[in-house]
Amino acid sequence: MNLFSFSANFVSEESCRLHFKEQRDKIGVNCKCGSSEHFWIKSRWSYECKKCKHRTSLRSGTIMQSSNLSFLIWYKTMFLLSATKKGFSSKEIQKQLGLKRYEPVWSMVHKLRKAMGNRDSRYTLEGMIELDEGYFTVESSEIEKDKGVRGKGAVGKQNVAIMAESTPLEDIETGKKSSHCRYFKAKVLSGHGAEEINEVVIESIDDKSIVFSDKSTSYIDIADYVELHITEKSDKETTNETLKWVHITISNAKRTLLGNYHKIKGKYLQLYLNEFVYKLNRRYFGDNTKYNY
Ligand SMILES: [Zn+2]
Repeated sequence: MNLFSFSANFVSEESCRLHFKEQRDKIGVNCKCGSSEHFWIKSRWSYECKKCKHRTSLRSGTIMQSSNLSFLIWYKTMFLLSATKKGFSSKEIQKQLGLKRYEPVWSMVHKLRKAMGNRDSRYTLEGMIELDEGYFTVESSEIEKDKGVRGKGAVGKQNVAIMAESTPLEDIETGKKSSHCRYFKAKVLSGHGAEEINEVVIESIDDKSIVFSDKSTSYIDIADYVELHITEKSDKETTNETLKWVHITISNAKRTLLGNYHKIKGKYLQLYLNEFVYKLNRRYFGDNTKYNY
């Protein structure tokens, strides 16, 4: 949605609430008594259970529960987060929306990033998949504690598994090989064990896929979980071809995250990656994408 259609549709708090209600009604509201039959009480922006009369506000049970920010602010933030390729920091969003307090904005933005990750976790990658790990610079409070360092400055590297669907193409006239990529995933790893990689492969990749990677020892069991696992020595030439998209993505992600946030705490890295990948997976606006908002 571009800026023009956004302002046309969501001019007021009321229009945002009505839109939110419409979305919520599609899923349905469940009362704690077990009933899902409700009256709508507009004057209170609440649902009332037909059976036990319990009231559920429009916000409760949703991402906005316990937030004091208006629906309009949430909608504007969703727009800012998803409309631009580059992304916004919470500080910039606070400034753009003219909000006094930083903490509620920070909390809202992180909840939205978490929701983006949940949304994408519904899908698995299929076909030919490139897999590699990227090392992201993070501010690590754990390292600081270990070294007894006080204040800022301790920096660590966090490894992240990056996966990219990639279809090889060959130009019939020139014989030149290239590849075309579609969807991505990024998962922060806690170590270098094969077991963790196996879990990531099981939850992220369809078992009929073909996976390309380098010969890292942590990838030793991947063949057990997919149709075929092809490994190549990680010298420049082979990986430039077979792991092309995953490498482009790793460097783009690093550049985007560093450009927007300068310093990232290790424990929040997955949330920033959620946002990056969510947008990457929806980069073809209006295209026939299987990834819905
Ligand atoms: Zn009830």
